[in-house]
This record gives sequence, structure tokens and C-alpha cells, in this order.
Amino acid sequence: MTNRIYADHAATAALSHTALRAMEPYFTQKYGNPSSLYGFGQQAKADLEKARADLAACLNARPEEIYFTSGGTEADNWALKGAVELMALKGKKTGHIITSAIEHHAVLHTAQYLEKQGYSVTYLPVDGHGRVDPAAVEAAIRPDTLLISIMAANNEIGTIQPVAEIGAVARAHKILFHTDAVQAVGHIPVDVQAWNADLLSLSGHKFGGPRGMGALYVKKPLRLPPLIHGGGQEKGRRSGTENVAGAVGMAAALKEAVARLPEESARLSALRDRLIAGLATLPYTRLTGHPTHRLPGIASFVFEGVEGEALLLHLDAKGICASSGSACSSASLDPSHVLLAIGLPHAIAHGSLRLSLGPDNTEADVDAILKAVPQVVEYLRAMSPVWDAQAQKPTWEL
Ligand SMILES: *Cc1c(COP(=O)(O)O)cnc(C)c1O
Repeated sequence: MTNRIYADHAATAALSHTALRAMEPYFTQKYGNPSSLYGFGQQAKADLEKARADLAACLNARPEEIYFTSGGTEADNWALKGAVELMALKGKKTGHIITSAIEHHAVLHTAQYLEKQGYSVTYLPVDGHGRVDPAAVEAAIRPDTLLISIMAANNEIGTIQPVAEIGAVARAHKILFHTDAVQAVGHIPVDVQAWNADLLSLSGHKFGGPRGMGALYVKKPLRLPPLIHGGGQEKGRRSGTENVAGAVGMAAALKEAVARLPEESARLSALRDRLIAGLATLPYTRLTGHPTHRLPGIASFVFEGVEGEALLLHLDAKGICASSGSACSSASLDPSHVLLAIGLPHAIAHGSLRLSLGPDNTEADVDAILKAVPQVVEYLRAMSPVWDAQAQKPTWEL
């Protein structure tokens, strides 16, 4: 074992032992193809359907409403492209989509792709805490609005959206509502009925399931045209030989996460709040995201006069794995679109840090982080051209 402290669970989490144990037989013994007619294949089919039912139950959905995908990105792509294609089949060949400025790139870049196809898209602004106002969603609705896609919880700053209220607006106007719930599922209670969701994306590896496995909830009787064509699996909607091990593992992980949710979210919230209390109070430091409407495991900050990437590298040298908004698009020097959307100036948005906690994190981990981060911040500021060492403040007036 290493002394590594893993505080990047929002990027990916370890496979849970329960999921691993549930998956193992499907690699070695129960490897039948669910489409095969002999009993060995049909057993795999039955196990796949059991996983679908278990997953559906965790979302208050019906098994027939769950389609397995290769992850959250595919589910998001399918939701947006499928929804507009469905409307095109009904005669609405162009139209309007409402989303937010802080969506994951899986939604944002798909929306931009659809803009190139002739659709118009409204990227709703958010408030300083990263929240979308349901009244702003309603105000943005046009006669040709086809789809509203607003994420349930943000992956960078942890802000939880008023999803049920936004879903109610969509329902009142009879507009399809999709939510990217990848950061929510397994972390906060998710209920497709209460949220008025028509489409909901989730991803296994964000809650202890396997990577490369996700699902799209499609409310009955909605039938999305397929994104992937082929052998007709998933009721002809998502072709490709089914990943039975992945589905079984994802369902096992989610069942476990949901069963433990009340206890685990209280435990993580307490650890998160210790991080916030210890770090947001450093000079020229701010908490990013909402103070209370936030995911139990995510603590996120910006440190003025510090470069996010340097911060991560120095934390890595101390054995701490964390992430920074700006590191997401590592090829570019642009700060995160989420941090800009909550109104942070470029210069400050560069100094971001996201600590995302999970099942393996302990009080001792938090103690170590609370010791390391201030040291690194102080060290980097001492060397920074934008930090006035004499005055102990940034050189800029913003
Ligand atoms: C991780 C993530 C995705 C992408 O999911 P993958 O399974 O990694 O493709 C989409 N949306 C959000 C909010 C995420 O955090």
C-alpha cells in the first residue's frame, strides 16, 4: 500500500469490492452472450435484466426505461442528439435547446455540434454559486424549444441544481427535460419521477462501478432513435454485444451506494466541511460553488496568486491526488468555463483546486490535506510574480 491520499473521486473512483465480486464470474464462467438462444446465453440475459431492474429501482424508474451505454458521455450525447432527432421525425427539423453555461463538456460540446447542424442553443448563465434559476429557464422558453438539458450537480464546484423545479417548468411547457446526473447518482437521492425527468444520464465509475459503463433513463413511452446502429441489442436502441459484467457491476455498486447513502453522505459532508472551514479561511481564498446546495464529497476553492497546475503538482509530490478546473482542458491555458461562468476573473480562476472525497477517505486524510495545502499555497505565492510578498496580497486590484 502507498501513502497516497486520493481526493479526486469526481474524476473517477475505485471499483467497489462489492462490484468487483459481482463482476468476476462474468469474465470467467458466465460469459455467455445474452443474445444467444441456448441456456448459457439466456442465463447471462437474465442476469443483465436483473441488473437493469436493480439500477432502475435506485432511480425510481422502471426497468424498461433503462438503456445501458458505454458511460456518461455516450448517455449525454444520445440524450441530446436522440431528442432532436426524435423531434425531427415528428416534423420539427430545427428548433431551440436550453442548457446551462456550466454543463460538462459531454453536453456542452454536443450542444455546440447541434448548433452547427442548425439548432439554436441558449446557454443559461448561473449565479455566483453556480445555480441555474428555474425562472430563467422558463423565461428562455420559445415556441420552438425542443429540449431543456440542465445538469443535476456540477462536477467542478459541486453545486446541486434545483432539478425538480426545472423539471416542473419543462413539464408545464411540455418540453423534453434531460439531466446529466452523473455526479448526483449514488451521491444524493435521485428520483426520476420527483425530478420530472424525461431523460437522465449516469455513469458507473463515478459511484464505485466500472469505467466504460453508464446508462440513459428514457421515460416511457418516449422512444429515442438509436445513436449506435447494429445488431439490435437494448430493444434495437443501442446496438453492440452487451457488457454484462459492466452492467452487473454498475448495478451492484449503485445498490450499495444507495443503501449507504444517508450514512456516507453525512460522513463525507462532515469531512468536506472540515476542508472548507480549514481552507476557505486562508487569505485571498474563496470557496467555489454553493455553501449548502453542494455534493457531500466536493470541496472546491480558488487561491489568488496561485497557479492551479503548479498547486496540483506540488500536492502530488506530497502524495495528494486532486484536481483543478483549469487542468481539465490541459492542452489549453483557458481557465474552466465553470469558474468563468460563476463570475471569477480569469486571473483568479486559474488558481483553482477541487478536492473530491469518497469511501476510502478518512479524518487523517483531511488532516494531511489541511496541513499540505496551506504550505503549498504559501510556497507558490512566495514565488509568484502576481503576489506582493511584502504586503501579503495579490499585486492586482480586481
Ligand atoms: C464524468 C462526467 C461525465 C462523463 O462520464 P463518463 O462516464 O466519464 O463518460 C459527464 N458528466 C458529468 C457531470 C461528469 O462528471
